Amino acid sequence: MTRPAAPGTGRALSSSLPALVFLAFGVVAAALYAAFDTPLIAGPAFTVAGVGGALAVTLGPRWHRAQPRWAWRMLAVACVCFLTGALARPWAVEQDGPYALTADAATVPGYLFMLLGLAGLLRTRGRLPSHAVIDGLIVFIGAALCSVLLLAVPAGSITDRPPLVSALAALYPIFDVILILLLVSLAFTTAVRRPSYLLLVASMSLLVVGDVLYAIIGVSGQLTGSRLLDLPFLLGFLLIGAAALHPSVVDLGQAARLPVQAWSWQRLLLIGPALAAPSLLTVFVSGRSTADRLVLGVGGAAMVVLLMMRAVSAVQGYAAAQRRYEHRATHDPLTGLPNRLMLAAEVRRLLTAGRPADTGVWVFFLDLDGFKLVNDSWGHHAGDQLIAQVAARLRAALPAAATVARVGGDEFVVVQLGSRAQAVALADRIIDCVHEPLRIRQVEAVITASVGIAGTQLDDGGAGDDPPVTADALLRDADTAMYQAKADGRGRWVMFDASMHERVRERVEIEQALRIALSEDDLRIAFQPIVDLESGSLIGAEALLRWEHPGRGNISPAVFIPIAEDTGLIGPIGRWVLDRSLRQLAQWRADGTVPADFWMSVNVSPRQLRDPGLIRALDDTLDRHRVPAPAVVLEITESVMIDPTSVTGQVLADLRQRGIRIVVDDFGTGFSALGYLRKHPVTGVKVDRAFVAGLGQSAKDEEIVRAVVAMSSALHLTVVAEGVETPLQQGVLAVLGVLFGQGRLWGEPVGPAEFARQWASRPADPVDGPAVPAAGQVQGRGGNS
Ligand code: C2E
Ligand code: MG
Ligand code: MG
Repeated sequence: MTRPAAPGTGRALSSSLPALVFLAFGVVAAALYAAFDTPLIAGPAFTVAGVGGALAVTLGPRWHRAQPRWAWRMLAVACVCFLTGALARPWAVEQDGPYALTADAATVPGYLFMLLGLAGLLRTRGRLPSHAVIDGLIVFIGAALCSVLLLAVPAGSITDRPPLVSALAALYPIFDVILILLLVSLAFTTAVRRPSYLLLVASMSLLVVGDVLYAIIGVSGQLTGSRLLDLPFLLGFLLIGAAALHPSVVDLGQAARLPVQAWSWQRLLLIGPALAAPSLLTVFVSGRSTADRLVLGVGGAAMVVLLMMRAVSAVQGYAAAQRRYEHRATHDPLTGLPNRLMLAAEVRRLLTAGRPADTGVWVFFLDLDGFKLVNDSWGHHAGDQLIAQVAARLRAALPAAATVARVGGDEFVVVQLGSRAQAVALADRIIDCVHEPLRIRQVEAVITASVGIAGTQLDDGGAGDDPPVTADALLRDADTAMYQAKADGRGRWVMFDASMHERVRERVEIEQALRIALSEDDLRIAFQPIVDLESGSLIGAEALLRWEHPGRGNISPAVFIPIAEDTGLIGPIGRWVLDRSLRQLAQWRADGTVPADFWMSVNVSPRQLRDPGLIRALDDTLDRHRVPAPAVVLEITESVMIDPTSVTGQVLADLRQRGIRIVVDDFGTGFSALGYLRKHPVTGVKVDRAFVAGLGQSAKDEEIVRAVVAMSSALHLTVVAEGVETPLQQGVLAVLGVLFGQGRLWGEPVGPAEFARQWASRPADPVDGPAVPAAGQVQGRGGNS
């Protein structure tokens, strides 16, 4: 059995088809039943409708996988019981003794199953709102009073028949009242009224109507009446069957709560008559027994109590909603900490309240370092977990008097009163408490925070006389100082000073100028040779971006690349660099400036690697310039490798699959770990120039380079030494087994024309042979890849 299509616009009709066909057949059966008073037609028509209804209630919910299954099984059993009871009744009323109760023996359990089934549907709605319960009880009491006093008591007090028959006649109206209670609860907790809900309610209402009709004739002692009295039951079978076949049957077991304290006119229409019942009934019970009058009195009093509870519940519900609303407006839902709104109010309050002269208001703006990486590589859920953990940690570690607020994705603000020394101590505490290892997804992670501090006492003791400090200004300055902390190397705090505004302006200005430079094609690329360390022959070049700022002259990529990264400008800039450097490569290959196995190294930033579009752009560029993929080397940073599951991992794999080589730049300065190198499809490393600089002088640097060579040869990675400036360095590198080098020794980064002039068909011999290191300077060992 396959699951029917979800109800959608086009499919809605086709998935409702079984229910519609069933209803159509049922209507024919009902018409036949009503029109022909011969047992030959009416009997089978009723049976067909009843069996059809029971089958539909058995199969429909199963087909649609409606929950809870047990509730629907109860309703199916109830249908079978009712059908058995209805078919047996004409025969049973003719019998004497126990056989006379055959029909009731099926119908009474039928009611119990039906009530259980409905209760099961209601249960899935969880705790009912108190106003729905109270309203349900009011309607229940109204209906109960009517049915007990008008129907059950008269039927039960008929004495010229067996007491059990009278008792049963009195029982049905009471079942109906419970049924009404459940129906009302269903109605009060169903926000969206879909076909199955309407059909079910209509079916149950018909059951109640049928029962009431029987109860009315039962008051005078009759047990059967016109055949048409059974028509509501027949229709009831039809409607419950259609309800079960319709796809919206799944919604019946799902909570779709009404909004709080709904006072809809439908609700008043039900409650109004129920409330009027006690007064109307006084007319009927005036001549009756004390017990009857007592029942009415108790019922009326209960209603008054319920109405009072309803009023109290409404007021309480309103107040609670108000509190919830206020809390939500002033707190962050993830961490429960105050949000920016409440924080600003708190800072304002602290600024205006009186405080001792040596006490200032201090604002600490905290931003997690590398949080984006966690979010991008482990997913938002892990990101949320991390934020929640950091929030809990801050709250626990900082004094209760300090306000801790979350003001953005990975941004927190702490506010505290105190001296400058206390502020510094608190900043240290914040840095330390974030730095403790955390567990996310079973992995231990270490995260750092950059903190900017601003306060009313930036110069020691100089509070008071300065221009009045506003909350906004404090927050802005702390934010600025935080950026400075990031720029200074992250994981630290920085106290705000006025010169920072200047630096921020500078950054913004550089960003704008860079944007213009890109659009006006003012960027240039310089190429620096990569050579065979021993022979000095050209084997590759690194493309390095150059920018001459109109006012400031040449700006180092080390300055503007991070700004381009932060602002997202690195995307278009990176594509531009790829296009121009591969175009140059194609030209040099074509005119014979470079050998066929010459490679072009291009730097790509972490942010570029997080963009799956990079692959397409690269494919296009390779195609456009007809450059083979193996002639391209991408230089990535070590930080890229710390996210094993991210888009980055996939992008690297895709690049490698195309034959593009990947080397880790500035190796040894970042997160380097053997495991990461093994996990990623990298083909080589570039030893950072900091280690190369020390060669021949620092034994430690030699050891590091030796270790990198050993590890790389084990992993079959190529090693390029960068920043090689002296023949001594070259010699030591050769002894250590490094095969390739790059640096001033062989040439500065230069424009393409100059590069071609220097290198076109240059013979593969070094101008200066490598210096032989002094004896004992290096302990030799050889070979890599
Ligand atoms: P990098 O990739 O490590 O590039 C090598 C840097 O070392 C270059 O600095 C180069 O000029 C410099 N250098 C070359 N030979 C020597 C030497 O003998 N001694 C010393 N001390 N330095 C030498 P540059 O051009 O200022 O670039 C700085 C950084 O900017 C690069 O470091 C790279 O990370 C980044 N960068 C440059 N161009 C791009 C680009 O197109 N895209 C991206 N994402 N980053 C780039
Ligand atoms: Mg590089
Ligand atoms: Mg480098």
